Amino acid sequence: MKIAKLFDQKKIVYSFEIYPPNLSSGVDVVYETLKNLTNLKPDYLSVTYGAGGTEVKNRTCEISALIKNTCAIEPLAHLTCVNSRKSEVSDVLNQLSNDNIHNILAMRGDIRPNTVVRDDFKYASQLMDYIAGRGGFHLAAACYPEGHPECESLKKDIEYMKLKQDCGAQFFITQLFFDNDAYYDFVDKARARGITAPIQAGIMPLTNIKQIERTLYLSGAKVPHKLSRLISRYGSNRVAMTQAGIMYATEQIISLLENDVQGIHLYTMNKLDVARKITENIDHLISMENTSYLV
Ligand code: FAD
Repeated sequence: MKIAKLFDQKKIVYSFEIYPPNLSSGVDVVYETLKNLTNLKPDYLSVTYGAGGTEVKNRTCEISALIKNTCAIEPLAHLTCVNSRKSEVSDVLNQLSNDNIHNILAMRGDIRPNTVVRDDFKYASQLMDYIAGRGGFHLAAACYPEGHPECESLKKDIEYMKLKQDCGAQFFITQLFFDNDAYYDFVDKARARGITAPIQAGIMPLTNIKQIERTLYLSGAKVPHKLSRLISRYGSNRVAMTQAGIMYATEQIISLLENDVQGIHLYTMNKLDVARKITENIDHLISMENTSYLV
Protein backbone atom coordinates (compact mmCIF):
# COMPACT_ATOMS: atom_id res chain seq x y z
CA MET A 1 0.00 0.00 0.00
CA LYS A 2 1.24 3.44 -0.88
CA ILE A 3 1.11 5.48 2.35
CA ALA A 4 0.88 8.77 0.45
CA LYS A 5 -2.52 7.64 -0.90
CA LEU A 6 -3.94 7.77 2.63
CA PHE A 7 -3.80 11.56 2.44
CA ASP A 8 -6.32 11.42 -0.43
CA GLN A 9 -8.59 9.04 1.45
CA LYS A 10 -8.62 10.67 4.89
CA LYS A 11 -8.70 14.18 6.22
CA ILE A 12 -6.33 13.24 9.06
CA VAL A 13 -3.62 10.62 8.74
CA TYR A 14 -2.53 9.44 12.20
CA SER A 15 0.73 7.54 12.66
CA PHE A 16 3.34 6.54 15.22
CA GLU A 17 7.11 6.44 15.14
CA ILE A 18 8.97 3.70 16.95
CA TYR A 19 12.62 2.79 17.19
CA PRO A 20 14.07 -0.74 17.00
CA PRO A 21 15.43 -2.30 20.19
CA ASN A 22 19.21 -2.40 20.59
CA LEU A 23 21.10 -5.54 19.64
CA SER A 24 21.29 -6.93 23.16
CA SER A 25 17.49 -7.35 23.18
CA GLY A 26 15.49 -9.69 21.01
CA VAL A 27 12.84 -8.45 18.63
CA ASP A 28 10.27 -9.91 21.04
CA VAL A 29 10.95 -6.87 23.30
CA VAL A 30 9.08 -4.68 20.85
CA TYR A 31 6.57 -7.28 19.80
CA GLU A 32 4.16 -6.51 22.67
CA THR A 33 4.59 -2.78 22.12
CA LEU A 34 3.84 -3.23 18.42
CA LYS A 35 0.76 -5.30 19.11
CA ASN A 36 -0.55 -2.74 21.58
CA LEU A 37 0.26 0.19 19.31
CA THR A 38 -1.58 -1.61 16.52
CA ASN A 39 -4.67 -1.78 18.74
CA LEU A 40 -4.65 2.03 18.77
CA LYS A 41 -5.30 1.83 15.01
CA PRO A 42 -2.65 4.11 13.55
CA ASP A 43 -2.73 4.46 9.77
CA TYR A 44 0.91 3.44 9.59
CA LEU A 45 3.96 2.89 11.80
CA SER A 46 7.35 4.37 11.01
CA VAL A 47 10.58 2.72 12.15
CA THR A 48 13.71 4.79 12.75
CA TYR A 49 17.05 3.96 11.22
CA GLY A 50 19.94 4.01 13.68
CA ALA A 51 23.38 5.32 12.98
CA GLY A 52 25.01 2.54 14.97
CA GLY A 53 26.41 0.14 12.35
CA THR A 54 24.99 -2.33 9.87
CA GLU A 55 23.46 -4.73 12.37
CA VAL A 56 21.42 -2.06 14.12
CA LYS A 57 20.41 -0.67 10.73
CA ASN A 58 19.20 -4.11 9.70
CA ARG A 59 16.85 -4.01 12.64
CA THR A 60 14.82 -1.36 10.84
CA CYS A 61 14.13 -3.87 8.08
CA GLU A 62 13.46 -6.63 10.61
CA ILE A 63 10.98 -4.56 12.64
CA SER A 64 9.32 -3.17 9.51
CA ALA A 65 8.81 -6.73 8.27
CA LEU A 66 7.34 -7.69 11.64
CA ILE A 67 4.89 -4.78 11.41
CA LYS A 68 3.88 -5.72 7.90
CA ASN A 69 3.52 -9.45 8.50
CA THR A 70 2.17 -9.73 12.01
CA CYS A 71 0.40 -6.43 12.69
CA ALA A 72 -1.11 -6.01 9.23
CA ILE A 73 -0.16 -2.34 9.28
CA GLU A 74 1.87 -0.54 6.68
CA PRO A 75 5.42 0.25 7.83
CA LEU A 76 7.33 3.34 6.77
CA ALA A 77 11.00 2.38 6.96
CA HIS A 78 13.37 5.27 7.69
CA LEU A 79 16.62 5.25 5.72
CA THR A 80 19.58 7.59 6.08
CA CYS A 81 22.55 7.91 3.78
CA VAL A 82 25.29 10.25 4.98
CA ASN A 83 27.46 7.48 6.36
CA SER A 84 26.58 4.84 3.78
CA ARG A 85 28.05 3.72 0.50
CA LYS A 86 25.76 3.15 -2.48
CA SER A 87 26.34 -0.61 -2.17
CA GLU A 88 25.12 -0.55 1.45
CA VAL A 89 22.01 1.43 0.54
CA SER A 90 21.42 -0.98 -2.31
CA ASP A 91 21.61 -3.93 0.12
CA VAL A 92 19.04 -2.31 2.42
CA LEU A 93 16.75 -1.62 -0.53
CA ASN A 94 17.05 -5.26 -1.61
CA GLN A 95 16.17 -6.41 1.86
CA LEU A 96 13.17 -4.07 2.10
CA SER A 97 11.97 -5.14 -1.30
CA ASN A 98 12.34 -8.84 -0.41
CA ASP A 99 10.24 -8.19 2.68
CA ASN A 100 7.61 -6.45 0.55
CA ILE A 101 8.24 -3.07 2.19
CA HIS A 102 7.87 -0.24 -0.28
CA ASN A 103 7.44 2.96 1.73
CA ILE A 104 10.64 4.77 2.74
CA LEU A 105 11.29 7.97 4.68
CA ALA A 106 14.52 8.97 2.94
CA MET A 107 16.88 11.23 4.88
CA ARG A 108 20.45 12.38 5.07
CA GLY A 109 20.96 11.54 8.76
CA ASP A 110 22.58 13.70 11.41
CA ILE A 111 26.25 14.49 11.22
CA ARG A 112 27.65 14.03 14.73
CA PRO A 113 31.32 14.37 15.74
CA ASN A 114 31.77 10.58 15.37
CA THR A 115 29.85 10.21 12.09
CA VAL A 116 31.91 8.78 9.25
CA VAL A 117 30.70 10.88 6.34
CA ARG A 118 30.90 9.07 2.97
CA ASP A 119 30.95 10.83 -0.40
CA ASP A 120 28.24 8.76 -2.05
CA PHE A 121 25.29 10.80 -0.78
CA LYS A 122 25.60 14.30 0.59
CA TYR A 123 21.93 15.20 0.86
CA ALA A 124 18.61 13.39 1.22
CA SER A 125 17.62 14.54 -2.29
CA GLN A 126 20.54 12.51 -3.72
CA LEU A 127 19.37 9.42 -1.85
CA MET A 128 15.86 10.01 -3.18
CA ASP A 129 17.17 10.34 -6.72
CA TYR A 130 19.02 7.07 -6.31
CA ILE A 131 15.99 5.22 -4.94
CA ALA A 132 13.68 6.72 -7.57
CA GLY A 133 16.13 5.65 -10.29
CA ARG A 134 15.98 2.12 -9.02
CA GLY A 135 12.15 2.17 -8.80
CA GLY A 136 9.72 0.15 -6.71
CA PHE A 137 9.51 2.47 -3.67
CA HIS A 138 7.24 5.30 -2.48
CA LEU A 139 9.15 8.13 -0.88
CA ALA A 140 8.55 10.49 2.00
CA ALA A 141 10.95 13.11 3.39
CA ALA A 142 11.68 15.10 6.53
CA CYS A 143 11.07 18.84 6.89
CA TYR A 144 11.69 21.47 9.54
CA PRO A 145 9.08 24.09 10.57
CA GLU A 146 11.77 26.12 12.33
CA GLY A 147 14.45 25.41 9.73
CA HIS A 148 17.08 22.65 9.83
CA PRO A 149 19.72 23.56 12.44
CA GLU A 150 22.50 23.64 9.80
CA CYS A 151 20.66 25.74 7.26
CA GLU A 152 21.42 29.44 6.91
CA SER A 153 17.73 30.40 6.59
CA LEU A 154 14.26 28.90 6.59
CA LYS A 155 13.85 30.21 3.04
CA LYS A 156 16.86 28.18 1.82
CA ASP A 157 15.69 25.14 3.74
CA ILE A 158 12.30 25.35 2.00
CA GLU A 159 14.14 25.51 -1.36
CA TYR A 160 15.79 22.18 -0.50
CA MET A 161 12.44 20.83 0.64
CA LYS A 162 11.07 21.67 -2.81
CA LEU A 163 14.03 19.81 -4.31
CA LYS A 164 13.05 16.77 -2.24
CA GLN A 165 9.53 16.98 -3.62
CA ASP A 166 10.97 17.22 -7.14
CA CYS A 167 13.08 14.13 -6.39
CA GLY A 168 10.02 12.10 -5.47
CA ALA A 169 8.85 12.95 -1.93
CA GLN A 170 5.11 12.27 -1.92
CA PHE A 171 4.58 13.56 1.60
CA PHE A 172 6.59 15.16 4.39
CA ILE A 173 6.84 14.59 8.12
CA THR A 174 7.96 17.54 10.21
CA GLN A 175 10.59 17.68 12.87
CA LEU A 176 8.97 17.99 16.28
CA PHE A 177 7.82 21.47 17.25
CA PHE A 178 6.03 22.91 20.27
CA ASP A 179 4.80 26.16 18.79
CA ASN A 180 1.92 25.58 16.37
CA ASP A 181 2.26 29.08 14.94
CA ALA A 182 5.73 28.12 13.67
CA TYR A 183 4.13 25.16 11.87
CA TYR A 184 1.32 27.25 10.30
CA ASP A 185 3.78 29.88 9.14
CA PHE A 186 6.06 27.18 7.68
CA VAL A 187 3.21 25.45 5.81
CA ASP A 188 2.14 28.80 4.30
CA LYS A 189 5.70 29.44 3.10
CA ALA A 190 6.09 25.91 1.74
CA ARG A 191 2.80 26.18 -0.20
CA ALA A 192 3.84 29.57 -1.58
CA ARG A 193 7.04 27.92 -2.84
CA GLY A 194 5.06 25.27 -4.74
CA ILE A 195 5.23 22.42 -2.25
CA THR A 196 1.96 20.61 -2.77
CA ALA A 197 2.68 17.33 -0.95
CA PRO A 198 0.95 16.74 2.41
CA ILE A 199 2.93 17.95 5.45
CA GLN A 200 2.25 15.74 8.46
CA ALA A 201 2.90 17.39 11.82
CA GLY A 202 5.42 15.58 14.05
CA ILE A 203 4.44 15.80 17.72
CA MET A 204 6.59 14.65 20.60
CA PRO A 205 5.13 14.51 24.12
CA LEU A 206 7.83 15.58 26.57
CA THR A 207 7.74 13.27 29.56
CA ASN A 208 11.02 13.43 31.48
CA ILE A 209 13.78 15.90 32.04
CA LYS A 210 16.57 13.84 30.40
CA GLN A 211 14.52 13.39 27.24
CA ILE A 212 13.59 17.08 27.33
CA GLU A 213 17.22 18.25 27.46
CA ARG A 214 18.30 15.89 24.66
CA THR A 215 15.30 16.66 22.48
CA LEU A 216 15.68 20.39 22.77
CA TYR A 217 19.42 20.17 22.11
CA LEU A 218 19.04 17.99 18.99
CA SER A 219 16.01 19.66 17.44
CA GLY A 220 16.65 23.28 18.40
CA ALA A 221 12.85 23.62 18.72
CA LYS A 222 11.59 26.80 20.37
CA VAL A 223 9.93 26.27 23.74
CA PRO A 224 6.86 28.45 24.24
CA HIS A 225 6.46 30.11 27.63
CA LYS A 226 3.63 27.80 28.65
CA LEU A 227 5.74 24.68 28.05
CA SER A 228 8.81 26.07 29.78
CA ARG A 229 6.61 26.84 32.82
CA LEU A 230 5.36 23.25 32.85
CA ILE A 231 8.93 21.91 32.57
CA SER A 232 10.27 24.05 35.40
CA ARG A 233 7.31 23.24 37.62
CA TYR A 234 6.98 19.49 36.98
CA GLY A 235 10.22 18.41 35.25
CA SER A 236 11.74 16.99 38.43
CA ASN A 237 8.87 14.53 38.90
CA ARG A 238 8.58 11.88 36.22
CA VAL A 239 4.91 11.07 36.78
CA ALA A 240 3.85 14.71 36.95
CA MET A 241 5.93 15.63 33.88
CA THR A 242 4.41 12.73 31.94
CA GLN A 243 0.94 14.04 32.73
CA ALA A 244 1.91 17.60 31.81
CA GLY A 245 3.63 16.40 28.59
CA ILE A 246 0.57 14.42 27.53
CA MET A 247 -1.67 17.39 28.22
CA TYR A 248 0.55 19.78 26.25
CA ALA A 249 0.80 17.42 23.26
CA THR A 250 -2.96 16.81 23.34
CA GLU A 251 -3.71 20.53 23.29
CA GLN A 252 -1.22 21.01 20.48
CA ILE A 253 -2.90 18.28 18.41
CA ILE A 254 -6.43 19.55 19.04
CA SER A 255 -5.43 23.00 17.91
CA LEU A 256 -3.77 21.53 14.79
CA LEU A 257 -6.96 19.59 14.01
CA GLU A 258 -9.00 22.78 14.36
CA ASN A 259 -6.65 24.38 11.86
CA ASP A 260 -6.95 21.68 9.19
CA VAL A 261 -3.66 19.85 9.61
CA GLN A 262 -3.41 16.91 7.18
CA GLY A 263 -1.88 14.46 9.60
CA ILE A 264 -0.34 13.84 13.01
CA HIS A 265 2.80 11.76 13.43
CA LEU A 266 3.39 10.93 17.08
CA TYR A 267 6.98 10.39 18.15
CA THR A 268 6.12 7.67 20.68
CA MET A 269 9.67 6.95 21.93
CA ASN A 270 8.23 3.41 22.32
CA LYS A 271 6.17 4.61 25.30
CA LEU A 272 2.95 2.74 24.89
CA ASP A 273 1.11 4.38 27.79
CA VAL A 274 1.82 7.85 26.49
CA ALA A 275 0.71 6.92 22.96
CA ARG A 276 -2.42 5.30 24.36
CA LYS A 277 -3.42 8.27 26.52
CA ILE A 278 -2.90 10.77 23.73
CA THR A 279 -4.82 8.59 21.30
CA GLU A 280 -7.71 8.27 23.78
CA ASN A 281 -7.73 12.06 24.11
CA ILE A 282 -8.12 12.65 20.38
CA ASP A 283 -9.46 9.55 18.65
CA HIS A 284 -13.09 10.73 18.48
CA LEU A 285 -11.97 14.08 17.12
CA ILE A 286 -9.99 12.36 14.39
CA SER A 287 -12.84 10.05 13.50
CA MET A 288 -15.27 12.98 13.31
CA GLU A 289 -12.87 14.87 11.04
CA ASN A 290 -12.51 11.81 8.82
CA THR A 291 -16.23 11.07 8.77
CA SER A 292 -17.18 14.61 7.79
CA TYR A 293 -14.49 14.47 5.10
CA LEU A 294 -16.12 11.46 3.45
CA VAL A 295 -19.66 12.88 3.46
P1 FAD B 1 18.66 17.10 3.96
O1 FAD B 1 17.35 17.34 3.35
O2 FAD B 1 19.74 16.53 3.09
O3 FAD B 1 19.17 18.48 4.59
C1 FAD B 1 20.30 18.52 5.43
C2 FAD B 1 20.85 19.96 5.46
O4 FAD B 1 21.43 20.29 4.18
C3 FAD B 1 19.78 21.01 5.71
O5 FAD B 1 20.39 22.07 6.45
C4 FAD B 1 19.41 21.49 4.31
O6 FAD B 1 18.91 22.80 4.32
C5 FAD B 1 20.73 21.37 3.57
N1 FAD B 1 20.61 21.00 2.15
C6 FAD B 1 19.76 20.09 1.62
N2 FAD B 1 19.98 19.98 0.28
C7 FAD B 1 21.00 20.82 -0.02
C8 FAD B 1 21.70 21.14 -1.21
N3 FAD B 1 21.38 20.57 -2.38
N4 FAD B 1 22.71 22.05 -1.16
C9 FAD B 1 23.06 22.65 0.02
N5 FAD B 1 22.43 22.37 1.21
C10 FAD B 1 21.41 21.47 1.18
N6 FAD B 1 17.87 10.56 11.70
C11 FAD B 1 18.33 9.27 11.79
O7 FAD B 1 19.55 9.06 11.87
N7 FAD B 1 17.47 8.21 11.77
C12 FAD B 1 16.13 8.37 11.68
O8 FAD B 1 15.37 7.39 11.67
C13 FAD B 1 15.60 9.71 11.60
N8 FAD B 1 14.27 9.94 11.49
C14 FAD B 1 13.80 11.23 11.34
C15 FAD B 1 12.42 11.44 11.13
C16 FAD B 1 11.92 12.72 10.95
C17 FAD B 1 10.44 12.92 10.72
C18 FAD B 1 12.81 13.85 11.00
C19 FAD B 1 12.28 15.25 10.83
C20 FAD B 1 14.17 13.65 11.19
C21 FAD B 1 14.69 12.35 11.36
N9 FAD B 1 16.06 12.09 11.51
C22 FAD B 1 16.53 10.80 11.60
C23 FAD B 1 17.00 13.21 11.59
C24 FAD B 1 17.56 13.63 10.21
O9 FAD B 1 18.35 12.59 9.69
C25 FAD B 1 18.37 14.90 10.43
O10 FAD B 1 17.54 15.98 10.75
C26 FAD B 1 19.38 15.28 9.38
O11 FAD B 1 20.30 16.22 9.95
C27 FAD B 1 18.81 15.91 8.12
O12 FAD B 1 18.16 15.00 7.35
P2 FAD B 1 17.36 15.47 6.02
O13 FAD B 1 16.95 14.27 5.29
O14 FAD B 1 16.35 16.47 6.38
O15 FAD B 1 18.59 16.17 5.25
